[in-house]
Amino acid sequence: MNMTHLGEVADAISKSDYFVALTGAGISKESNVPTFRGEDGLWRQYNAMELATPSAFAKNPSLVWEWYAWRQKLIGECEPNPAHKTLALWEQRGILKSLITQNVDGLHIRAGSKDVLEVHGDLWTVKCIACDHRERLQIAAVGIPSCPKCNNHLRPDVVWFGESLNPEIMKKVYAQLEQADTCMVIGTSALVQPAASFPLIVKRHSGIVIEINLEETVLTPVVDFHISGKAGEILPELDELLNKFR
Ligand code: NAD
Ligand code: ZN
Repeated sequence: MNMTHLGEVADAISKSDYFVALTGAGISKESNVPTFRGEDGLWRQYNAMELATPSAFAKNPSLVWEWYAWRQKLIGECEPNPAHKTLALWEQRGILKSLITQNVDGLHIRAGSKDVLEVHGDLWTVKCIACDHRERLQIAAVGIPSCPKCNNHLRPDVVWFGESLNPEIMKKVYAQLEQADTCMVIGTSALVQPAASFPLIVKRHSGIVIEINLEETVLTPVVDFHISGKAGEILPELDELLNKFR
């Protein structure tokens, strides 16, 4: 995509009434966040499918926590990149009305975004397996953290395989998508449901969908604009163009 097209996208954003963004693992690639799939996904002899499940936690909570503490440590060493920062800036300026992410790395929050709908949860938030206690850790967990209220185990507040998504968050997500007239999809392969169908909700009421990805995805044939490139480069370029419209 050449600069003229990028200009068209900036134009569409500047004319939008309700602009939302949906992000996936690709936006954190330039921050070197491991994917936990394929090669990156292996920890000792385990893979994510064996560890990120309620039954794995029930059977061996200390093993599951060891793995999460290792991930927290790895991600704690990563920094938000210009793509995360641009989205935080757009929220501050009122350009971006809602940010929906499939990521659990917390980099949007660390980049300064305040209002993030984390559909798969957050690696840094823990919740009690017995009561309603929830808190956000500042450093990687040590051992199995326990609940300050009831002393039961705390677990990572992420959506594990076989679990359903948080209905309260999903209600907010669908409300945002219904309202959106422009939606930017950044760094997602659009293979994991229901997030993969989020942009289609925007299309259903004739909204504009913009995709930023290194490659084409299953979504590409239905989007209005596909920008091929790195999110960390494209978003700051779009921001510069937007500044010209102001
Ligand atoms: P995915 O790994 O399936 O797809 C990533 C997409 O990003 C690919 O289409 C790739 O072409 C694109 N991409 C890679 N680098 C890019 C860049 N620099 N700029 C723009 N695009 C780039 O990711 P997904 O669709 O988010 O699905 C993965 C699932 O695994 C999600 O449910 C997520 O919760 C979880 N996950 C989360 C993290 C994280 O928190 N950072 C990391 C890995 C996986
Ligand atoms: Zn408790």
